[in-house]
Amino acid sequence: MAPEQAGADVDVRFVRGVGDSRGAILNKAGIFTVADLLLRLPFRYEDRQATNPSQPSGLVDGQVAAAEVLVGSVHVRPTRRKGFRLVELSGWSGGVPVRAVWFNQAWLGQRLRPRQRLVLYGKVERAWAGAPPRFVNPKWEEVGGAEPPLSDGGKAPPKSGASRDEARFGRIVPIYERIGRVTPRRLRQSIHWVLRKKKELVGPGHLPREVVRRLRLISWQEALHAVHFPREGARLAEFEAQRSPGHRRLIFEEFFLYSLAFRLFREQVRKERGRGRAFRVDDAMRTLAMRVLPFSLTKSQRKAMGEIAGDLQSERPMRRLLQGDVGSGKTIIAVLAALIVAENGAQIALMAPTSVLAEQHFSSVRRLLEPHGIRTALLTARLRARERRETLAAVESGWAQLVVGTHSVIQKGAAFHDLGLAIVDEQHRFGVGQRGLLVDQGRAADLLVMTATPIPRTLQMAVAGDLDLSEITELPPGRQPVTTRVRRLQDAEEAYRLVRAEAARGRQTFYVCPTIEESDAMPGVGVEARSRELAEGPFRGLRVGLVHGRVPAAPREAVMRDFARGRLDVLVATTVIEVGVDVPNATVIVIEHAERFGLAQLHQLRGRVGRGADPATAILLVGDELGGNARRRLAILEASTDGFRIAEEDLEIRGHGEILGTRQSGRPLFRVGELPRDGDIFRAARIEAKRFFDSPEARGPDGGRILDHVRGAWGEQFGLSGTAG
Ligand code: ADP
Ligand code: MG
Repeated sequence: MAPEQAGADVDVRFVRGVGDSRGAILNKAGIFTVADLLLRLPFRYEDRQATNPSQPSGLVDGQVAAAEVLVGSVHVRPTRRKGFRLVELSGWSGGVPVRAVWFNQAWLGQRLRPRQRLVLYGKVERAWAGAPPRFVNPKWEEVGGAEPPLSDGGKAPPKSGASRDEARFGRIVPIYERIGRVTPRRLRQSIHWVLRKKKELVGPGHLPREVVRRLRLISWQEALHAVHFPREGARLAEFEAQRSPGHRRLIFEEFFLYSLAFRLFREQVRKERGRGRAFRVDDAMRTLAMRVLPFSLTKSQRKAMGEIAGDLQSERPMRRLLQGDVGSGKTIIAVLAALIVAENGAQIALMAPTSVLAEQHFSSVRRLLEPHGIRTALLTARLRARERRETLAAVESGWAQLVVGTHSVIQKGAAFHDLGLAIVDEQHRFGVGQRGLLVDQGRAADLLVMTATPIPRTLQMAVAGDLDLSEITELPPGRQPVTTRVRRLQDAEEAYRLVRAEAARGRQTFYVCPTIEESDAMPGVGVEARSRELAEGPFRGLRVGLVHGRVPAAPREAVMRDFARGRLDVLVATTVIEVGVDVPNATVIVIEHAERFGLAQLHQLRGRVGRGADPATAILLVGDELGGNARRRLAILEASTDGFRIAEEDLEIRGHGEILGTRQSGRPLFRVGELPRDGDIFRAARIEAKRFFDSPEARGPDGGRILDHVRGAWGEQFGLSGTAG
C-alpha cells in the first residue's frame, strides 16, 4: 500500500477521544478507520453566528439564537404543578445579563455551576421590553471548562485561539447523529482533531488526478473540511441538503469507486463466462414442458421463458433478474428452467428467503415435476439432523436433482455434485450482498434471481446493472384488481362485517397482526391474543385458525393445509403468510396496524388475495398516531396496485438507504450518496468510471492503487476476487 494512502486506513481507535471502548461502539456502527469516521457527515448545522459575546443585545425576542454565557447562579425551583421543577440560570454575556430556564430537567441543577462558560442555543424571550433576554429550554454546551482560577488574574479569556475549542465554537456548528454512547459533541471533537491536527491521517482520497482536474472538483481534504466545518457565511440550506461543493465531491467519489467496483465485477463475470456451459433444449423437452404446464403461459411469461432458455443454451453463464409483480407467475418459469437443466443431467438449487416459503415452493415444485421423474429434495434449518445429513448426501451424490431450501442452509451447507442453475427467490429482499455469496457457490452455474418488488428504475443500474432483465408485465388472465381501503382500528366493525359476509358465501380471509406477542411497546397487537378475541367476539361461529413463526412446522402446515382446502374461514397470522401463499378462494385480507409495515411488504401481503376469479378487498386498519410518511404510504396503496409505481414512491419517501440496507449487515449501500437524490452525480460518476476503467491509466501504478482500494472497499459486497487485473 502506498504511504500516502495509509492515512485514511488508520484504525479509528487512534483518534483522540475514541480509544478502545468508544472504538468498539463505532465498529458496531461500521466505523473502523479514520476515513469511515470522516464520512459520517453532519446531518444538520446550527448557525451560531450570534455567538458574539460583545453583542448580546442582538438577542431578539422570539428568535433562535446563540450566546456564550458566563454562569452566575443556578437554581432549581418547584412549580405549582406537583413534582414539576424548573432550573433557572442567570449569567452574563459580554457583561450584559442573560437568563435561561429549563423545564423539568432538574438534573441540570447538578451539572451547571457558577463560573462555567456555556454556549446556549435556543429560543429567546423577554418578559417585557428591556428585560434581560431569556433562553427557553436551550441546548447548551460547556466551553473550555470552568473559568480559570482567580489567581490567574481573572483576565478575560482571549477572544480567539488556544483556550477556545474551535470545534464547538465555530460560528456554524456541525451536528452529528449520536452513535450509541458516543455523543454528537464527542464526534465533533474527534473529527475536528483529525482535520485540524492530524491532516496526515486524512489521506488524499481515491480519485484519479486527471478526473479531479477535468471536472474541477475540490480536493478530498478541502471537501471534508468544508462539510464538517463550513466557512462563515456558508449557505446552510445547501449544506443541509448535502449539495454543497464539498458534499458533491465526496458523493462523486463514492459513486465513482462504486462504479469501478461494478466494472471489476463485470470483468470478472465475463472472464468466468467462458467456463459456463450450453444446455441442450430439444423437442422432447418442449413436449415434456407442455405436459408439466397446468395452464398456458401469458405473453410476457412466454417472452421471459424464451430469454431464459436462450441463456441456458448459451455458453455464457446466465446472470438474469426476473421481475414480476406478486402473483404474476414467476414460479412456473422457475420450474420450466429447472426442467431444462435437470433433463441435461445437472442440478438446480432453488433458494427462498424463509423456511416457510421454501416449504411452499417445495410442495408446488414437487407436485409438478416428480410425476415426470425429476427427483426433488428440501433443505432447511428445520430438518432433523438425520434427515439433513441424508439430504446433504443426496445433494452431494447428485441423486437430488432439484434442491429447494433457504439461502442460508444451501449456501453454507450444501456441496453439489454438479450445480447447473441457481434460482434465488428474493421476493422483496433484493440486495447486492447476497449475489456476492452466490457467485461463490457455483462459479460456472447459471443464475436466475426472481423478485416481486420491482427495483425502481432509478436504482436499477446501481443494484442490478450486472444482471440481464426479464419482466413479467401482466397478471394471469381473469384476475381482479384488489380494492384497498384504509380505515381506523376503531372502525374495524366494517371489516368484521365483510369477513362474515364473505364467509357466508364460502370465501376466506387472511387476518394479519404485526407481532406474535403483545409487548409494552405494542399493547394489544399480539396475534395470539387477537386471534382469541376475534374467535370469541366478531368471528364467533366462524372457523378461525392461527399461524405464526413460532408455531412448529407440523401443526403450522396442518393449519395452512386446512385453510388451503377451505376448512377454515379466517386465518389469523403474522407476516409468515406474506410470501408465496396461494389460496385463490381467499377474497379478503385485513391488516391490523398497517402503519407498522413497509410499503413493499403491504403490497406483498395484499397480493395474497385477488388470486381467484372473485373480486377481492384489502382493509388496512391503522392506529391513531399516524406519521406523515405512514399516511402517504397508505394513500399510495389505496390508489395503486402497480408494484412498479409503488416501488418508485417507496423510494421517493424513504430514500435508498432504508430500502437497500442489506438486512444482514444493517448498513446502507452508500455512506454519503443517496438515491434518487443524487441521481445526477451517479450518472456523471458512472460515465467517468467507465472512461477511466477503459483508459491505459487504470493499468498504471496510480490506477492499480485505486482499483486495489475498490477491491478492499467493495470486494465483499460484490464477491470480487482479491487478485489484481
Ligand atoms: P409469483 O410471481 O408471485 O411467485 P406465482 O408463481 O405464485 O406468482 O403464481 C401465482 C398464481 O398464478 C399461482 O396460482 C399460479 O399457478 C398462477 N398462474 C401463474 N401463471 C399462470 C398463467 N399463465 N395462467 C393461469 N394461472 C397462472
Ligand atoms: Mg413467488
